[in-house]
Amino acid sequence: MKNHYEVLIVGGGTGGIMTAAQLLRQNKSLNIGLIDPSDAHYYQPAWTLVGAGTFNFQNTRREMSSVIPDGCQWIQEEVVSLEPHSNQLTTKSSGAITYDILVLSPGVVNKLDDLEGLKEALDTDFVCSNYVDPEKTWRILKNFKGGNALFTQPATPIKCGGAPQKIMYLAEDYLRKTGLRDKSNVIFATPGSVIFGVEDFALTLNKIIDEKNILLKTFYKPIKIDSSEKKVYFEFSNPNADIQSLKLNSEINESFSGNNQIVMPYEMLHTAPPQSPPQFILDSDLVNETGWLDVDIHTLKHNSFENIFGLGDVAALPTAKTGAAIRKQAPVVVDQILNKLKSKTIKHESYNGYSSCPIVTGYGKMVLAEFEYNNVRKSDPIISTFLDTSKESWLLWILKKYGLPFLYWNMMLKGRM
Ligand SMILES: Cc1cc2nc3c(=O)[nH]c(=O)nc-3n(C[C@H](O)[C@H](O)[C@H](O)COP(=O)(O)OP(=O)(O)OC[C@H]3O[C@@H](n4cnc5c(N)ncnc54)[C@H](O)[C@@H]3O)c2cc1C
Repeated sequence: MKNHYEVLIVGGGTGGIMTAAQLLRQNKSLNIGLIDPSDAHYYQPAWTLVGAGTFNFQNTRREMSSVIPDGCQWIQEEVVSLEPHSNQLTTKSSGAITYDILVLSPGVVNKLDDLEGLKEALDTDFVCSNYVDPEKTWRILKNFKGGNALFTQPATPIKCGGAPQKIMYLAEDYLRKTGLRDKSNVIFATPGSVIFGVEDFALTLNKIIDEKNILLKTFYKPIKIDSSEKKVYFEFSNPNADIQSLKLNSEINESFSGNNQIVMPYEMLHTAPPQSPPQFILDSDLVNETGWLDVDIHTLKHNSFENIFGLGDVAALPTAKTGAAIRKQAPVVVDQILNKLKSKTIKHESYNGYSSCPIVTGYGKMVLAEFEYNNVRKSDPIISTFLDTSKESWLLWILKKYGLPFLYWNMMLKGRM
């Protein structure tokens, strides 16, 4: 292991590997180090399907050594602090490493302690999360015998903000297939005001929610789980309405608690934990006032340090945190770096917030929500020639289940797209 790299990348997830692979494709002689303590790299988008029993978890995992591109030095270490003023960072066991250019893509972490009772609840046989253990979600779904199947969303930004509702649609479909739907209430509770931020997709999803008799609860911010009583406590987060104006549903046994809370019992609960950047990012000089990595939203260059770039879930970008977004971010970062190292002039100057959310709405059905900054719809020109991606489609499901995993392992991680 060297102690200086021309380009030093933190994180061997989607952002880190794609950046390293694309850089080396353009310039084999670059001296690149990539730091990541993990033995494995996961294709997380398929965890939704794992939770619904239609994808093998083992197929979402590859050895980290197998995805690190040839010519890139893997440093199997954990970064504990960043010292941007001296162009160095510190790792847990090997100490300081210096760099000319630093790329940060360490993703986000689940903050189980930030929702009271969540940690204990996840130890029970009724509470699960595709963000923590998607195989457990499938076990719980199979064991569910009826009652309230409750799906929640936290108030923090999370990776793939659509994932909490995707597993809800799949679970609903599963209950239909297994004859349990009449005995169950499927409830989606979100602190947000709408089911989806882009109107065309919200229209489709609201229609599906109506047709399937799913109970959508907006402005429901989870604040506590009491797993001994199997209840979730919510704060009513609508600043423009009084909680007393809410009409509670008696069939799901929700009730008021105190002056500003709602309590809902569950027989099965799927949660998305609150999430944040890893601690070494939070502790650094590189974050904005909300704690996210402070990069320019178009160039992805750090707003105070010319030789630092950030991409992926950790970056303070006002768009959805997805692997699909990273596919458009990585070429921008790569061009900026090559330009800085004088091996290329800039081509992909600007990232416009592209992100996409493949919303599976049942087994064999999917809507493909694609958009840019300000929730402006932006469709892939090739796919949208053949179909309207805001409508449910079997072809899109095939893309999600087979096409995208193939493209991910064989093209994206190899720097080919
Ligand atoms: C349930 C679920 C469903 C999803 N569905 C979709 C989907 O349908 N479509 C889509 O495009 N995206 C989806 N995503 C989101 C997608 O997986 C992420 O946006 C993407 O993986 C983010 O890439 P990243 O490089 O920012 O972080 P990650 O891929 O999470 O990688 C971060 C890496 O940084 C490393 N790291 C962390 N801390 C340190 C440290 N201190 N030192 C060194 N290394 C460190 C970690 O070990 C990890 O390998 C989904 C995610 C989940 C969980």
